[in-house]
Amino acid sequence: MSSERSVKLNVLGVVQGVGYRPFVARLGRELKLAGTVRNLGGWVEIFVRGDGPRVEEFIRRLRSDAPGWGELPEIQSEEIAPELVPEGIFSIIPSGQERDRVPVLPPDLSTCPKCEAELKDPRDRRYRYPFISCTECGPRWTIMERLPYDRETTVMEDFPLCPACAAEYGDIATRRCHAQTIACHDCGPVLFLRTKQGQWETDGAFDEAARLLRAGGVVAVRDIGGFHLACDPNNSQALTRLRRLKGREAKPFAVMFPDVSSVEAYCHLSEPERTLLCSIPRPIVLLRKRRDFAPETCGVSREIGCMLPCAPLQMLLMDACGPLVMTSGNRSGEPILTENETMLELLKSDDLDGVLYHARRICTPMDDSVARVAEGRSQMVRRARGYVPMPLTLPVTAEKTIFAAGGDLKACFCLMKGDRAYLSQHFGDMEDPGVAETYRRAVRRQGELLRLAPERGICDLHPGYHSRAFARSLDVPLQEVQHHHAHIASVMAEHGLAGPVLGLAFDGTGYGTDGAVWGGELLLCEGPDMTRLGHLDYVPLCGGDKAAKDAAFALASYRCHAGLPAESPEAQTVRAAIAAGINTTPTSSMGRLFDAVSALLGLGTYNNYEGACAVALENAAAEALERGEDPAPAKFPVMERDGMLLADTGALIRSLTEALEAGESPGTLALSFHRGVIAMGTELMLRARTRTGVSAAALSGGVFMNRILLSGLSQALREAGFTVYRNERVPMNDGGVALGQVYLAAMKED
Ligand code: ZN
Ligand code: ZN
Ligand code: FE
Repeated sequence: MSSERSVKLNVLGVVQGVGYRPFVARLGRELKLAGTVRNLGGWVEIFVRGDGPRVEEFIRRLRSDAPGWGELPEIQSEEIAPELVPEGIFSIIPSGQERDRVPVLPPDLSTCPKCEAELKDPRDRRYRYPFISCTECGPRWTIMERLPYDRETTVMEDFPLCPACAAEYGDIATRRCHAQTIACHDCGPVLFLRTKQGQWETDGAFDEAARLLRAGGVVAVRDIGGFHLACDPNNSQALTRLRRLKGREAKPFAVMFPDVSSVEAYCHLSEPERTLLCSIPRPIVLLRKRRDFAPETCGVSREIGCMLPCAPLQMLLMDACGPLVMTSGNRSGEPILTENETMLELLKSDDLDGVLYHARRICTPMDDSVARVAEGRSQMVRRARGYVPMPLTLPVTAEKTIFAAGGDLKACFCLMKGDRAYLSQHFGDMEDPGVAETYRRAVRRQGELLRLAPERGICDLHPGYHSRAFARSLDVPLQEVQHHHAHIASVMAEHGLAGPVLGLAFDGTGYGTDGAVWGGELLLCEGPDMTRLGHLDYVPLCGGDKAAKDAAFALASYRCHAGLPAESPEAQTVRAAIAAGINTTPTSSMGRLFDAVSALLGLGTYNNYEGACAVALENAAAEALERGEDPAPAKFPVMERDGMLLADTGALIRSLTEALEAGESPGTLALSFHRGVIAMGTELMLRARTRTGVSAAALSGGVFMNRILLSGLSQALREAGFTVYRNERVPMNDGGVALGQVYLAAMKED
């Protein structure tokens, strides 16, 4: 005789918007159990009653058969009195709200294979419907207005269901049961196209937009988190107009491809890269070029940022046009445009031919995410659509809600409560007033939706940072943390490390505790504490922000420091400024060293986008490697002064200059320089290990975007017996800083 059980279950994890409730109800009915399931502001609450072993099987399959993300939901269960479970057939009941828990909200989900099949099936009633979706796919976070996640709390409330859609919505047997985003030709959003010639609707709008794109036009397309600007990646004239429209000189454009095989025609694709490319978030994946588009698409870059379509409209465009440049619809440095009116205004520009738009509102602006695979492991470069607002679980608990302001470049904030850290999307450079406003609005919105009101704050030390000023304006107890300490802490957070670890931060710019510009740092990190053990020796750098763009400033400063003669009349002026201390700051930045060496070797002298000189230097080194060259590492000795380990940049610059004057090729020297930096980094870490006995190594900072440096140094450290950790789920660049900050604040509380 079997015993009856009555159980209440709380399921968390990404369970909303991926068809979890219908799945639960179907499972309950299949196992002939009584019960109910409902949303509770981000959680799912289940009451179930029936035969003991069947209830057990029910709980087991809740976990193993869960639709969606592949991430196992956490399930809490408690036995309850049988009368608490309603009699009768297992059913979905109206959503409720629970106040005291942080909801787990779904990110935007790419179109599922079932919807894609229907989209392309002439017999289906949603054939070619550009907004097809179901419980397993469609926009989520970008269209959510408030909690709990339901039809009327999203922008889909603007589109009342037609009878056919309503029937599917209420039918537990379909995968559109309780799918909040469903719609069809009859009841949902439709497409509009405006061009300089006129206005089109529905299929006509789509066909004319596709025709324009095929004919070399530049068309704005309203997508999930904002507008894209699209054009043919092989049409130089279209690309030139697009660059003018965006105010973007040279930074490579991302390209959307119809399918994996078309990606493979242009790029090398490893197995982990394929997995990343096809994953539900559909990020842009940086892949090694095999064949090129017009030079205006990716310029000198050895990689193409590739993505697959993640929305039905994009799938239709791919079918009609083939690969398209799909770049964020904004002016360079400004936030992505989401409003129809703003983009339609841009039609006045000679460089925009059409705007393909619709009336489904966008609540949260969101760029595409960017990721790559390095040494076989995926690594986030820009975390946004498809990942936000999924939390990261940390090995500490925050009793009070912590707000981490992040940095000013690649701004990104983080909210933390309990053991969950909610990293925001990437915003861009806070210097732009539009970006700063988007950031501020997002703090409010994310706080409201997650029901997290900041009670403590943490921000960067930099006195001029807008993010710091914002954190101060919140009027909560505020802690300040050094930029590179936060970088290393972001690695510790991801890997659950409390320390001690030896952190190597190779970075562009971060304000130091001594007021200098840091960026080539060896830090001993333990818990919330940090000790600086070493750095690149200080070089007086003239030019301030200008020096971060114009590598000639950097080169003149580094040559002056190295005791070499001035290379030009301009360099003579720089020297006079340094001697007088005008506009000059000591720096240990690895980023500026890369700029100086790039200029020294004549490979690149101007950063028309961030890291352009460093990319030129890396490309030259990669080409030397491909030619089979095997130069010795450039001389980059480590010295010790007052207990501080210092890398001698003067010796490095002198030896590179000598070799160049002796006729060595710039390509060979670029490789030799990379190897010198790897040897220097290894030497720093070995000396630090001798001192501290610590053999856990954490690598972070934007300079590690350099593949030769990242894999070379990781390998050298592993060979020397270090365990090497680095960022994977958050960017190594400043986009990961907020996670490090929040972790440091949480550790301080414990
Ligand atoms: Zn679907
Ligand atoms: Zn409908
Ligand atoms: Fe940084």
